[in-house]
Amino acid sequence: MDVQPPQVLKTPLQVPRKTLMGPGPSNCSPRVMNAIGQPILGHMHPEIFKIMDDIKEGIRYVFQTANPLTLVVSTSGHGGMEAVLCNLLEPGDTALIAINGIWGQRAVSMATRYGARVVTLETEVGNNFTLAQIENAVHKHKPTLLFVTQGESSSGVYQNVEGIGDICHRYGCLLAVDTVASLGGVPLFVDRWGIDAVYTGSQKVLGAPAGLAPISFSPRAQERIFARKTPVKVLYWDMTVLGDYWDCFGRSRVYHHTIASQLLYGLREGLALVVEEGLENVIQRHQDCAQRFYQGLDKLGLQLFVEDEYKRLPTVTSITVPDWVDWRDVVAYAMKNHFVEISGGLGPTVNRVFRVGLMGYNATQDNVDLVLRVLGEALHYAQGVQR
Ligand code: PMP
Repeated sequence: MDVQPPQVLKTPLQVPRKTLMGPGPSNCSPRVMNAIGQPILGHMHPEIFKIMDDIKEGIRYVFQTANPLTLVVSTSGHGGMEAVLCNLLEPGDTALIAINGIWGQRAVSMATRYGARVVTLETEVGNNFTLAQIENAVHKHKPTLLFVTQGESSSGVYQNVEGIGDICHRYGCLLAVDTVASLGGVPLFVDRWGIDAVYTGSQKVLGAPAGLAPISFSPRAQERIFARKTPVKVLYWDMTVLGDYWDCFGRSRVYHHTIASQLLYGLREGLALVVEEGLENVIQRHQDCAQRFYQGLDKLGLQLFVEDEYKRLPTVTSITVPDWVDWRDVVAYAMKNHFVEISGGLGPTVNRVFRVGLMGYNATQDNVDLVLRVLGEALHYAQGVQR
């Protein structure tokens, strides 16, 4: 052999047990962990098709949609974003992207690569958009697609989406919404609110491992995809073929790629847990945890980065880093001493905030109390660190 067997692979795999209280992934419930250990199935077996059908039902429920083109893309949340933009944009189309953090920036980068003319609507990090601002921008640019992020996890900001669909449709524009960090923590009504394309990630409120992105397109968006003048640029994201594998068009199932059966089991179980608890109860649990967390932070003398309560995302809370600590000391202390993950900022919020996620299986009052205790202790420690 030219390359010798690596010694490292002769030692056993070791994975520590951590409490994941960052902005995702979250821990999975024992039921989900048990599900992903079930036997592997082939990607064209009838049993996997049944599981895929069950998952489609679950996704329609969590998205509150009857869209036939509802499925899962084998990818993390980023791939959901790629799939939406890649299918709905053609060279020369105008994409209007609302930017108040990193996810709008990412969407700009992707839409540009797919050949769209990109225009932006921007506000400062920590803020969201009013319907009037959105209407002005749609009126001005006459885009073919508007992209907004319901839960901007880099800053902990919630964007109200109700009403945006009506604005878009008055101007012949499609509405795409990123719900990776928000789904299940705040209400979302895809059909009622006129959302044309939506995606999320499996690893947050849905409580499954990362690697699957539930996605759904309205009949209007589906028509747009089938009427494209040019083929979708990436075969792997192309809904006109992936939709057949997921049996969305009532034609026969056609092989598209080898799906990870284990990931499907995990997602099915995560969705089953949401169905058993009831979506409205899941949302309430996340909001109750956030309230308890805000009160605890107040007692610790910490300030929330997003001042207006109605702009705060319950699933991911951003906390202003006090000027008397280095955020790295706090984060490192929590992990080293308690195996609790607390995150720093991301993109425009780096060095400015801590981010704490309370999502899915982790959204419990006990976890709120745990992270408050650890945060308090870590801040006390970090304050004493000499530099
Ligand atoms: N959008 C939002 C709002 C997110 O919070 C994230 C992940 N933090 C993503 C997209 C990207 O998801 P992933 O890391 O699973 O690719």
